[in-house]
Amino acid sequence: MTAATPPTTFGAVGRFFGAIGSLFKGMGVTIKYFVNPKTVVTQQYPENRETLKMFERFRSELLMTHDENGFHKCTGCRICETACPNGSIKVLHRAKSATGKAELDAFMWRLDSCTFCNACVMVCPFSVLKFGNNFENSVYDRRLFVYNLSKYAGPTSTALAKVADPEERKKMTEPRTPYYGPVPMQGHSWAGLQGVEVPAASAQAETPPAATTEEKKDGQQSTK
Ligand code: SF4
Ligand code: SF4
Repeated sequence: MTAATPPTTFGAVGRFFGAIGSLFKGMGVTIKYFVNPKTVVTQQYPENRETLKMFERFRSELLMTHDENGFHKCTGCRICETACPNGSIKVLHRAKSATGKAELDAFMWRLDSCTFCNACVMVCPFSVLKFGNNFENSVYDRRLFVYNLSKYAGPTSTALAKVADPEERKKMTEPRTPYYGPVPMQGHSWAGLQGVEVPAASAQAETPPAATTEEKKDGQQSTK
């Protein structure tokens, strides 16, 4: 074991001037932003909540696109579920189909385990899924991190378009809420899960976000 070398006078002086230089360097940055505040990149959150716009490629919530009538194109093919690397998607089929073909009952997505890799969006053959960039998703109950992305159970928009009578179309569908469906409480498996009633007050506090300007422009609406 060797004894520590005592600091030399030259080393102490060097560190002193180094610290002085670092101090002036920091002050220089502060003064630069003080005289030219437009160059400041730090976000004053949450004060700027109303005007804050996240970057276009920022992904924070999976959305299912619906057309102007509130219908989607999801066939329930489960390609996205298979592609998801960590089981964050569960596609539920309707027990009683209105068309005789497989129909979506609920599209379950786990925000708490999703890594936002975008694989599900890329593999969907009908461009049903997309990512939004609403980042304020904090909740007090982890069950609220499991969403149903579909607004209704029933046929696709293409199948419903073949039915002329709006009342008939309505009969072929059942409304769904963002908190409909199974909620995994432990571990990461969906197997054998039972639906869990989410307290009404908590669920009501988490209202789905309104359609963004971009979605309205596209003539589409998305919801959790
Ligand atoms: S973004 Fe990736 S991790 Fe998240 S649900 Fe889609 S495939 Fe799964
Ligand atoms: S979102 Fe797309 S890939 Fe997933 S089940 Fe629906 S149609 Fe299939």
